[in-house]
Amino acid sequence: MNPSPPYLGYLVGAPSWAACRLAKQNITAIAWPNKNRFVTAYQQRMMRDRNASCPSLKRVFDNAGLQERRDAYEMAVRPHPNYYHEETRKQLSREHAVGYYEQKRELVDIKELRPEYQEIASHVLQDVILRLKRAYDDFFRRVQNGEPPGYPRFQGRNRYDSFCYPDGAGWKLEAKERPAEKKGIVRVNLRLTKIGTVKLHLHRNIQGTIKTLTIKREGEHWYAICTCEIGQPDPFPTSYEDVGIDLGVTHFAALSNGTFIDHPRYLRHAENKLAKAQQALSRKQRGSHKRKQVVQRVAKCHHKIAKQRKDFQHKASHKLVNQYQIIVFEDLQVKNLTKAPAPKQDENGNYVPNGAAAKAGVNKSILDAGWSTFTQMVSVNAAWAGRTVIFVDPSKTSQMCPNCQTIRKKTLDERWHSCECGCELDRDTASAKVILDLGHQHLSVGTRPTSATA
Ligand SMILES: [Zn+2]
Repeated sequence: MNPSPPYLGYLVGAPSWAACRLAKQNITAIAWPNKNRFVTAYQQRMMRDRNASCPSLKRVFDNAGLQERRDAYEMAVRPHPNYYHEETRKQLSREHAVGYYEQKRELVDIKELRPEYQEIASHVLQDVILRLKRAYDDFFRRVQNGEPPGYPRFQGRNRYDSFCYPDGAGWKLEAKERPAEKKGIVRVNLRLTKIGTVKLHLHRNIQGTIKTLTIKREGEHWYAICTCEIGQPDPFPTSYEDVGIDLGVTHFAALSNGTFIDHPRYLRHAENKLAKAQQALSRKQRGSHKRKQVVQRVAKCHHKIAKQRKDFQHKASHKLVNQYQIIVFEDLQVKNLTKAPAPKQDENGNYVPNGAAAKAGVNKSILDAGWSTFTQMVSVNAAWAGRTVIFVDPSKTSQMCPNCQTIRKKTLDERWHSCECGCELDRDTASAKVILDLGHQHLSVGTRPTSATA
């Protein structure tokens, strides 16, 4: 008599299908940072001109597209006498909506009316329309799901910082073998229609066939991102170790074998610097030259933090995937975890402290740690390597004893797990062990001896 499995769990990285689905990989090649010695001053100036005019034209174009969609609705649908009748409204929306294909057809006319748009490759503009479509699709999906809808926004001046070539048109990679005495490094040039040729600094070799190319700016750095389709990779040799992982605030992660991955508090370290830059920013007058400089400083801080975090996560993720066959995480909903706590009232209706300030600090650590990107990263890496990632129900994992399964509530600052059955463990290690057990129960391989369950 066991109608439902005791714990909710679901499989993410089942090796068979996941590897097929993930047969695409992002390969980033760094291109033309401003201080790039590869690019002559003349070229830099030319490119900056091109890139300055291109995004601003694109932004105008994007905003016009949004305006058009809005106007279509406001003029044709809203004034209708039966607007508040749901069926009529839906019917009208279907008839009068301006969508992706309509806007794509208009491109030709736009180019005729506004010659400056002829300068921009049509793929780039088509991509802008596609993004607008996606923004609308997401908006309608959120409305349907009853989430906060978030109407697509008009874009500010500094917002646009990337554009995409959705297929092979408009760009070309030219590889040039260098002489042997220069270690045979391949020199790669990227030729972009209407922008010119730029020298690339490849951060890794390109494998497979390139499907799309995105040019992206982050602060003062430019990147060319190639998405490549490559064949199915060979799985790693089977490992006989499994691991449960408790992502925490004290340590970044506690492993069920008793080890820890320490928390990289990059954001905390860089916070003072960032705070100073942001204070300076608030003092500057809008539109001033100084303000622009400080905006760059803030962006640089954020950029550095993001890079450090990503680097750490990649390394930690590879280490886990190399060593363990089955990796079990809690299915944490970071969005819910980082919510502000509900206000508390006493019996007279006065508000009493609800721990919001303390929670805010914890929230910062949670977001700093980047748990969700990390679990995603591990899932992807695991799928490539033929490993399995399982997410289990997080309720009670921190309260259960891994030895005798009794549940005893712990407060947040109780750091040690000690149970009447004689089980003495670090609190986070204990929950990592529980998480691993749940994962095994889910797979029904709990009987398989692994060093991690010892
Ligand atoms: Zn116990």
